[in-house]
Amino acid sequence: MSQLFRRNRNAETAPSVPEPPPSTGVACKVAGCASDNARPCAYRDGRGRGCRTVCCPDHGTSTEGKFYCRRHAGVIRAVGAQQTPQGGLPDVDNRAASLVNWIARDLDANVRRLLSGVAKSGESVIADETVHVARDFNRKARWEQSWRLVDHTGVILKVTIQVLEENDSLVRVHVGSGVIADGVPPWIARRTEDSDVATDTAQRQRFYQWLDESIFMAVDRFRTERVRLR
Ligand SMILES: [Zn+2]
Ligand SMILES: [Zn+2]
Repeated sequence: MSQLFRRNRNAETAPSVPEPPPSTGVACKVAGCASDNARPCAYRDGRGRGCRTVCCPDHGTSTEGKFYCRRHAGVIRAVGAQQTPQGGLPDVDNRAASLVNWIARDLDANVRRLLSGVAKSGESVIADETVHVARDFNRKARWEQSWRLVDHTGVILKVTIQVLEENDSLVRVHVGSGVIADGVPPWIARRTEDSDVATDTAQRQRFYQWLDESIFMAVDRFRTERVRLR
């Protein structure tokens, strides 16, 4: 009862400020953060290695009852909170899975629109919600997220965003059986260079525009060639 009373009073005096989580007596390790309610990141990769980040709730995220730093919250979101991929979660210091998921989410609306636009009757678009791992004969992992144009016979055309675990900066886009674009996103490439916010935004827009156009042209080519073959 007293709990409820206190919550109501808080709501009246400061409606937009939620009650801060109780102190854990542990300082957040994120630079410039003064919070003393930090907790360790719960991430554990497929080799059993944990994350050493200790941070406050503002610099981390709780998912499915577990607390993760921002970076690993992104990885958990990328693979799906319910799923653990075969071979376990990605290496603790690898960004391949979350990079695929970031790019796929940013391209999602355009790729869906594009594929729906070229769909013939009886065809529909299916999109992955999360990333999946695939392994080559050396057991090397690549992370992928796809959109598929399908009909009752199966997949007609697949668009895939792919990043290899061993080169987690390079994004490859497949349309059908070929790589139609690959490149390092500017926000990863520029880490060593100076740049201002306006340049960053412009570069990011250009990168996505380039990916959009490359996918558009490849899908268009696929459809025109198919027509010609008939
Ligand atoms: Zn913090
Ligand atoms: Zn972490």
